[in-house]
Amino acid sequence: MFITDCYGRPVRGVRISVNPSYNCNFRCIFCHMEGVERRSSVIMSPIEIEKIVKIMKNYGVDKVKLTGGEPMLRRDILEIVERLGKLELRDLSMTTNGTRMVSMAKKLKKAGLMRVNISLHTVNKDKYCWITGTQNKKSGRTRYDYLVDAIRAAIEAGLNPVKLNVVVMKNVNDDEIQDLINFTSEFGDKVILQLIELVEEGFADRDFYVKYYYNLKEIEERFEKEAVKIITRPLQMRKQYLLPNGVWVEIVKPNNNYEFCMNDDRIRITHDGKFKPCLMREDNLVDFLTPMRSGASEEEIEEIFRKAVKLREPFYKPSNIKPSSDMSIMYKEVA
Ligand code: SAM
Ligand code: SF4
Repeated sequence: MFITDCYGRPVRGVRISVNPSYNCNFRCIFCHMEGVERRSSVIMSPIEIEKIVKIMKNYGVDKVKLTGGEPMLRRDILEIVERLGKLELRDLSMTTNGTRMVSMAKKLKKAGLMRVNISLHTVNKDKYCWITGTQNKKSGRTRYDYLVDAIRAAIEAGLNPVKLNVVVMKNVNDDEIQDLINFTSEFGDKVILQLIELVEEGFADRDFYVKYYYNLKEIEERFEKEAVKIITRPLQMRKQYLLPNGVWVEIVKPNNNYEFCMNDDRIRITHDGKFKPCLMREDNLVDFLTPMRSGASEEEIEEIFRKAVKLREPFYKPSNIKPSSDMSIMYKEVA
């Protein structure tokens, strides 16, 4: 059985921020604050994360992505993965900037992590430091060198696939697409290059978005011609292209995209324990952690989850799409 929202969209996945962005060791130029209440020092414990995932799993949510801020900065990240690893989820993954991956990849895999997204953005060392706001050492190893080690460690640990996230920005890295494809090809068929369109959500600085936004349409048009195979994933109707050199490239294009929103099966959770029904909105958060900490029963937390699902609404949608009239939530049997 799984739960659908009032627009008939199943909710099968959850993206959990386990650490606020303001605590990150990087300062990426484009990073939006996913933690919402920016200085909220409240943070979910591993037990609380496990509890909420268990409750959601009863409603058919069996794909979990851990994100942040930077999840690997949590000292108890292994415990979080261990707890979730025991829940027999269909998918358990993480998005990371690569921090501590070299020492942790094997342990995470053993604990149940299935796959990982590692943020890459560029294959140019100096540019990497500029984009991520990290220091480039004049001598010795740079953050970029550690990142490459992190990618290798994740592959060697058997995390599969390893996706390399690249936020594509105008006049920053839009000229590097072929270099990024070549870089990815060096790692064999277990690595996918994921090109992400810059999202405006959460930005205080609209000028930044206007200056750096790059429409991935052009790249998609190129891949449509060159690809030897094209797959459309049910999640957000993302397209994956197999290029002639054997590299898979996935395109993530949320802006003004009905298909992205109409096929988004993920709900989100902020680091301080609130459901975030929509990636693009911050005005309809639903707090479950405060009631959980005050001793709310499992049924009461379930009710809060159902309320959050009811609030889900595609941010971009065709004008003729309306919510089901009685605003009731449907349950469907898994085929
Ligand atoms: N710290 C981790 C990292 O950077 O991979 C995980 C959190 S980060 C918010 C998750 C992903 O969102 C990263 O791949 C990051 O590049 C991407 N991201 C951050 N801000 C973005 C924006 N404004 N537009 C598009 N993607 C963004
Ligand atoms: Fe944001 Fe991730 Fe960059 Fe940290 S590493 S600033 S969370 S995008």
